[in-house]
Amino acid sequence: MSDTKYDKYEVIVGLEVHAQLSTQSKMYCGDSAAFGASPNTQVSPLSLGHPGTLPVVNESAIEYAVRIGLATHSQIRYENQFARKNYFYADLPKGYQITQDKTPICTHGYIAFEVNGEKKKVQLTRIHLEEDAGKSIHDIDPYFTLVDLNRAGTPLIEIVSEPDIRSGDEAMAYLHEVRKLVRYLDICDGNMEEGSMRCDANISVRLKGTTAYNPRSEVKNMNSMRNVKRAIEFEFIRQVDALEAGEKLVQETRGFDAIKGITLSQRSKEHAHDYRYFPEPDLPPVYVTDEYVAQVKAAMPKLSAELKEEYMNRYGLPEYDARLLSDDKFTSSYYNSLLAATGNAKAAANWMLGPVKNYLNEQGLEIQHFPLTPDKIAELIKMIDEGKTNFSVASTKIFPEVAASGKMPMTVAEEMNLLQSSDEGLIQQLIADVIAKYPEKVAEYKAGKKGLLGLFVGEVMKASKGKADPKLTNKLMMEKLEA
Ligand code: MN
Repeated sequence: MSDTKYDKYEVIVGLEVHAQLSTQSKMYCGDSAAFGASPNTQVSPLSLGHPGTLPVVNESAIEYAVRIGLATHSQIRYENQFARKNYFYADLPKGYQITQDKTPICTHGYIAFEVNGEKKKVQLTRIHLEEDAGKSIHDIDPYFTLVDLNRAGTPLIEIVSEPDIRSGDEAMAYLHEVRKLVRYLDICDGNMEEGSMRCDANISVRLKGTTAYNPRSEVKNMNSMRNVKRAIEFEFIRQVDALEAGEKLVQETRGFDAIKGITLSQRSKEHAHDYRYFPEPDLPPVYVTDEYVAQVKAAMPKLSAELKEEYMNRYGLPEYDARLLSDDKFTSSYYNSLLAATGNAKAAANWMLGPVKNYLNEQGLEIQHFPLTPDKIAELIKMIDEGKTNFSVASTKIFPEVAASGKMPMTVAEEMNLLQSSDEGLIQQLIADVIAKYPEKVAEYKAGKKGLLGLFVGEVMKASKGKADPKLTNKLMMEKLEA
């Protein structure tokens, strides 16, 4: 392959992720932080920033920040101050955002993950707490922008990475890991499309082998992982083209147009905001003690890596299965419930990664919306283990009917006349019939063509209309032929 001008360059990316914390109330007051209420119903003089009101820090938000700090191997700050970041915008009623400027609650952490089979570690510059702004709605009224202040003051963490990311794929894998973490930690629902996780990407390029940074573009407010990847790939080409054409890059803020797949300049550094940060005079510092951190640590939910180990070591699953079952919180939580209902961990994994996964794919559902409760899958497993049915009948006939009707598997199997027979007398009779029907084949078998066993067993199964226990049939058939 011939070298192109692009091969000489690498892309340098740092990501800033804003994640909305799933606390009941807002960051600095008691207004509800629930999503989806009628516009401007979850506001009070406090979230509207009326003069004379005083903010108070939400303790749950501190706890959630400590959880993500611990999960990302961060140092947790003891003395936390808050600061005002001043700017004017219609959806920012106070005229400033209360954030953490010089004292982010978490520093020096990292996030490790795999991308295309390779291990990757991205260092975190900081994680800090802040509040969200309200929402400007541009597409309802043709003449006016509407403002909904329900979101004003809801708590956010901002996770800022070092410029350690080197491709769109790495960015996607990193975001996947962040979403996995916040979901496992139960601190954010992680739904990017609904705006509860938003991403800004700082993107620059440089000649491979050099270490200086060129001016970067900051692509703001992307709400899907794929768009982050697309923006990075677009910026790489655009910036390399500019440099190769002898143009000078400038530091600027850009927006991503998801329909055209391009980024557009919004403002350059000369027009950047001066936020005039200063310490928030109305909030005393919040002290996070070692005892408090220890307490949060003791109550931390199990994370993906820990569950994966457990599935392998305690339940004997292969690494591949353990990884798939622990990759997402909702999958592992279903599997854990299933483990509590059945002693057969391997069969439970096979059901999850086979019939259940296929069903979800066909229906376009996520596991959290899977209609079968774990006790139904556990009953299917039990029926197979007890010889009442086999995996093939259970997964292709009983399971779909259980999914459609909501009935218990035993009831469905009885109603559909699908319970298999462990009646030795009946099976022996069918075996005798088959042997009588194929005398030449039996002779071939006895002469060494052992592969014919499958044919004989298949004939018995057919004659029984699929109800003969295949394991038992296999055993009895072999005994008969070897006799
Ligand atoms: Mn921010």
